[in-house]
Amino acid sequence: MCLAERMSTIAHNLEDVRQRIEAACAHAGREPGSVRLLPVTKTMSTDTIMQARAAGCRRFGENKVQEAARKAEELSGEDIEWALIGHLQTNKARVVARFAAEFQALDSLRLARELDKRLHTQGRRLDVLVQVNSSGEDSKFGLPPDEVVGMARQLGQYDALRVTGLMTLAVFSADRAQVAACFERMRAIQAQLRDTDAVRVGEGWDELSMGMSGDFELAIEHGATIVRVGQAIFGARLDANDYWPGVTG
Ligand SMILES: *Cc1c(COP(=O)(O)O)cnc(C)c1O
Repeated sequence: MCLAERMSTIAHNLEDVRQRIEAACAHAGREPGSVRLLPVTKTMSTDTIMQARAAGCRRFGENKVQEAARKAEELSGEDIEWALIGHLQTNKARVVARFAAEFQALDSLRLARELDKRLHTQGRRLDVLVQVNSSGEDSKFGLPPDEVVGMARQLGQYDALRVTGLMTLAVFSADRAQVAACFERMRAIQAQLRDTDAVRVGEGWDELSMGMSGDFELAIEHGATIVRVGQAIFGARLDANDYWPGVTG
């Protein structure tokens, strides 16, 4: 495919995904502006990212910190922000603190403490979402649902972290009821957090980041405010292992 064709493909796919988001909002009786699309560009080239930038996207999701840092460096002259959406080892907190605008995979207090420390050094703040393992699968990262409130109580002490909500990956299944159950579990945890005075930190747990290419409409039906979409915009990734966001580097 020549560059011009690819460009129009990405712009076209983006338009299609945006329309599907709007339709899902309408179907759920929600405002079209109540859902943010986070295009996920893992494994995609910086050229591809710039094509999406030209089509109006500004913040991009990446799951591997080294890959994201490299792209951020390469595109440092551009008006682009980075959201890290994959599990992070504590010893890489420093890298994230340097360039990311958002981190969606906070899953331990140890990591929160380390990020906060590194952010203070940089004089920066970071939007963070707490990742929850809503499916209970061993292969998934995130806190077990019953540990979220306990952790949330502790997060207020880290003032470089602006805690905005929760993130999850639903079970990968053709059974929509099972997928929906994951999303509903998230909504219940969010309600629980909002009812707990001691955890009123950040912007009030407004964000629910859930839904990917295969399930974002269902996620919107169940309250998603951020959908993380890769393949529906950029096409299939070459390395099948990369489908599974649990895989980190
Ligand atoms: C890759 C990834 C996505 C997007 O998946 P697609 O199937 O490409 O839409 C969403 N969330 C996370 C955490 C990911 O790693």
